[in-house]
Amino acid sequence: MDIPKPRYPGAVFHSEKLAGFQYHCSMSKCRFMDTSTGWLLYHGSEIHPYSLEFECPSDGVVGRWSRELQPIIEQVVQEKIDEGFDLENAKQRAKIEAQRAGLG
Ligand SMILES: [Zn+2]
Repeated sequence: MDIPKPRYPGAVFHSEKLAGFQYHCSMSKCRFMDTSTGWLLYHGSEIHPYSLEFECPSDGVVGRWSRELQPIIEQVVQEKIDEGFDLENAKQRAKIEAQRAGLG
Protein backbone atom coordinates (compact mmCIF):
# COMPACT_ATOMS: atom_id res chain seq x y z
CA MET A 1 0.00 0.00 0.00
CA ASP A 2 1.30 3.42 -0.92
CA ILE A 3 1.66 5.92 1.88
CA PRO A 4 0.86 9.46 0.75
CA LYS A 5 3.68 11.97 1.17
CA PRO A 6 3.21 14.52 3.96
CA ARG A 7 2.51 18.03 2.65
CA TYR A 8 2.14 20.03 5.84
CA PRO A 9 5.42 20.84 7.67
CA GLY A 10 6.32 18.91 10.81
CA ALA A 11 5.34 15.35 9.86
CA VAL A 12 6.51 12.65 12.31
CA PHE A 13 5.07 9.39 10.99
CA HIS A 14 2.10 8.01 9.07
CA SER A 15 -0.46 5.58 10.46
CA GLU A 16 -3.63 4.25 8.85
CA LYS A 17 -5.19 4.46 12.32
CA LEU A 18 -4.90 8.25 12.14
CA ALA A 19 -6.41 8.50 8.65
CA GLY A 20 -10.01 9.16 7.69
CA PHE A 21 -11.22 11.41 10.53
CA GLN A 22 -13.48 14.15 9.18
CA TYR A 23 -14.40 17.62 10.41
CA HIS A 24 -15.97 20.58 8.68
CA CYS A 25 -13.24 22.56 6.96
CA SER A 26 -11.68 25.18 9.22
CA MET A 27 -12.19 27.87 6.55
CA SER A 28 -15.42 29.64 7.54
CA LYS A 29 -17.16 29.71 4.15
CA CYS A 30 -15.96 26.34 2.89
CA ARG A 31 -18.63 23.64 2.43
CA PHE A 32 -16.16 20.73 2.24
CA MET A 33 -14.87 18.41 4.93
CA ASP A 34 -11.27 18.17 6.15
CA THR A 35 -10.16 14.53 6.16
CA SER A 36 -7.12 13.35 8.10
CA THR A 37 -4.38 11.92 5.89
CA GLY A 38 -2.81 9.68 8.57
CA TRP A 39 0.24 11.90 9.14
CA LEU A 40 1.03 12.86 12.71
CA LEU A 41 2.47 16.37 13.07
CA TYR A 42 4.72 17.77 15.76
CA HIS A 43 5.41 21.50 16.05
CA GLY A 44 6.90 21.61 19.54
CA SER A 45 3.85 23.11 21.25
CA GLU A 46 3.64 22.48 24.98
CA ILE A 47 -0.16 22.46 25.21
CA HIS A 48 -0.99 19.58 22.89
CA PRO A 49 2.23 18.62 21.15
CA TYR A 50 0.73 16.56 18.36
CA SER A 51 -1.76 17.38 15.65
CA LEU A 52 -2.85 15.64 12.48
CA GLU A 53 -2.51 16.61 8.86
CA PHE A 54 -5.96 17.19 7.36
CA GLU A 55 -6.84 17.85 3.75
CA CYS A 56 -9.73 19.85 2.32
CA PRO A 57 -10.39 19.29 -1.41
CA SER A 58 -10.67 23.07 -1.85
CA ASP A 59 -8.18 24.54 0.64
CA GLY A 60 -5.40 21.97 0.76
CA VAL A 61 -3.62 20.69 3.85
CA VAL A 62 -3.71 22.05 7.39
CA GLY A 63 -2.67 20.85 10.84
CA ARG A 64 -5.60 20.28 13.22
CA TRP A 65 -6.08 18.95 16.71
CA SER A 66 -9.21 18.15 18.69
CA ARG A 67 -9.72 16.77 22.18
CA GLU A 68 -11.48 13.66 20.87
CA LEU A 69 -8.46 12.78 18.72
CA GLN A 70 -6.05 12.88 21.65
CA PRO A 71 -6.67 9.28 22.91
CA ILE A 72 -6.06 7.69 19.49
CA ILE A 73 -3.01 9.90 18.94
CA GLU A 74 -1.54 8.80 22.28
CA GLN A 75 -2.33 5.15 21.55
CA VAL A 76 -0.67 5.19 18.13
CA VAL A 77 2.37 7.09 19.44
CA GLN A 78 2.79 4.48 22.19
CA GLU A 79 2.48 1.64 19.66
CA LYS A 80 5.18 3.26 17.53
CA ILE A 81 7.49 3.56 20.54
CA ASP A 82 6.83 -0.11 21.39
CA GLU A 83 7.78 -1.04 17.80
CA GLY A 84 11.14 0.65 18.34
CA PHE A 85 10.42 3.78 16.31
CA ASP A 86 12.90 6.56 17.12
CA LEU A 87 10.24 9.06 18.15
CA GLU A 88 12.57 11.64 19.70
CA ASN A 89 14.69 11.84 16.56
CA ALA A 90 11.61 12.12 14.34
CA LYS A 91 10.13 14.81 16.60
CA GLN A 92 13.35 16.80 16.49
CA ARG A 93 13.38 16.75 12.70
CA ALA A 94 9.68 17.64 12.56
CA LYS A 95 10.16 20.55 14.96
CA ILE A 96 13.04 22.00 12.91
CA GLU A 97 10.99 21.63 9.71
CA ALA A 98 7.98 23.33 11.35
CA GLN A 99 10.11 26.18 12.69
CA ARG A 100 11.66 26.73 9.25
CA ALA A 101 8.13 27.01 7.87
CA GLY A 102 7.25 29.57 10.54
CA LEU A 103 5.16 27.22 12.68
CA GLY A 104 5.57 25.98 16.22
ZN1 LIG B 1 -12.05 23.97 2.82
